[in-house]
Amino acid sequence: MTTNDVLSLLRDNIRNLKPYTSARDEFTGTAQIFIDANENPIGSVGGSNNNRYPDPYQRELKGRIAALKGVPAEHIFLGNGSDEAIDLLFKAFCRPGIDKAIATPPTYGMYQVSADVNEVEIEEVSLTEDFQLNVPALLNHGFDKVKMLFLCSPNNPTGNLLKRADIEQVLRNFNGIVIVDEAYIDFSPEKSWSLELAKYPNLVVLQTFSKAWGLAAVRLGIAYASTEIIAVLNKIKLPYNISGPAQEAAFNALSAPGEKDRMVAAVLEERARLEAELVKFDSVLHIYPSDANFLLVKTTAPNELYDFLVDNEIVVRNRSRLALCEGCLRITVGTAEENTALLKAFSQFA
Ligand SMILES: *Cc1c(COP(=O)(O)O)cnc(C)c1O
Repeated sequence: MTTNDVLSLLRDNIRNLKPYTSARDEFTGTAQIFIDANENPIGSVGGSNNNRYPDPYQRELKGRIAALKGVPAEHIFLGNGSDEAIDLLFKAFCRPGIDKAIATPPTYGMYQVSADVNEVEIEEVSLTEDFQLNVPALLNHGFDKVKMLFLCSPNNPTGNLLKRADIEQVLRNFNGIVIVDEAYIDFSPEKSWSLELAKYPNLVVLQTFSKAWGLAAVRLGIAYASTEIIAVLNKIKLPYNISGPAQEAAFNALSAPGEKDRMVAAVLEERARLEAELVKFDSVLHIYPSDANFLLVKTTAPNELYDFLVDNEIVVRNRSRLALCEGCLRITVGTAEENTALLKAFSQFA
């Protein structure tokens, strides 16, 4: 697809939209006195320093992200979690009640929820038994009115990376936006698809600060895409979608990437231990290989195990009702102490 092909997918109302311009958009020079935005000039109640509206385009923060990730800032959009980017992509490209998107279950539930909110039908092309893309089924699928395709790699809840060659084939042959959700990329050895934007004008890559960076409460997600798609997302987002404290928290985190790497290494070490210990239990039938910070564990009695763990004050995710995940619990790698408690509970499950 060319950039023009991609832009032709936009809804007319979005293409023609005249965006809201905030006070901070209209003035970009330097000045001493800012009495343009009806803020409280004195300060913040409670003593914090939040009386001024934040940068609507998060320029400083994007500069840091660009430097760390090796992707120019004009290819970066920041959202209130990746969930905001997902919602905005539906708004930009899918006419309610008319257009459709494809998801590849078992996968992240937000694609369906966001589609439902936007009145967009999701067509499902299931992953194969080994949780890889069914490329022929995806590419033989009718594309009429299908504007977007969601891929998740490493996939949630299965934990595995999708094969690069498969994603590449889909990117080359699907006539719509291909969204590659990399929420768990930091736990995997794979390099990000965000480095391939120049090759694929229809590619959108999602990452998040919620997992490896340990900033789930901050609510910050990244979308990488062509400058044209980024411009559209900027045009339709709420003016100040990333709060000042959120921008600050992420900015500070980005000055300590080594700390993130140490945490990831600790999680991976614990993941290996959990895997090695869990397989020993009779109640565990299989542990799927994971490139993420969780394990998908096939068990003999998922509902009973789930309840038993809850009785032991341990909450895991019961995914046993999803097709291809029958019997499965999804277990996030905890701290060493938490994992030891989990293993103890498993050992007591009769
Ligand atoms: C956790 C997760 C996200 C992150 O969502 P945020 O809104 O950024 O917290 C995105 N995609 C997948 C597949 C996830 O599991």
